[in-house]
Amino acid sequence: MSVLLEIQAARDVISRFEVKSPPVHVERIAKSLGITIQYGAFDDKLSGMAFIKDGVKVIGVNNAHHPNRQRFTIAHELGHMILHQQLLESSVHVDTGTLRRDFLATTGSDPIEIQANRFAAELLMPETFLREFLRDKSLDVEDEESLSELARRFKVSTMALQFRLLAFQEP
Ligand SMILES: [Zn+2]
Repeated sequence: MSVLLEIQAARDVISRFEVKSPPVHVERIAKSLGITIQYGAFDDKLSGMAFIKDGVKVIGVNNAHHPNRQRFTIAHELGHMILHQQLLESSVHVDTGTLRRDFLATTGSDPIEIQANRFAAELLMPETFLREFLRDKSLDVEDEESLSELARRFKVSTMALQFRLLAFQEP
């Protein structure tokens, strides 16, 4: 089975920036890719946005949200930047994510959002890193404390981690 385009794109970023362990510094990576990040206290419903104007790449992040959520927003918008450049050149892409679960899930209906979410999940919680923790540290994912400990390592929300682990298929 071939690897999905968005997953491969996230892995390319991880290897290009030689990330060896979590947490993945998404803000630093985005900036290194020439993207300007603007923080603002937007309406609570708005998670973030992305656009490209006259070649200038901008990601907007709602800084009223939890830092972990801001990291996910940056990763999601970075996914749009890498995967959907043409779209961002023609209009401002706004992510509302009224339903947090929808925003994290990769089973929604909009293919653009699914791609960006898959990219974000792989970038923030690379499969190889996660499997290493699950295997070597014999982590019990049923245990709430272990799960939040792992989420802290990756600087992601426990919910994001749960969604990520759900997507894993046992070999
Ligand atoms: Zn989006």
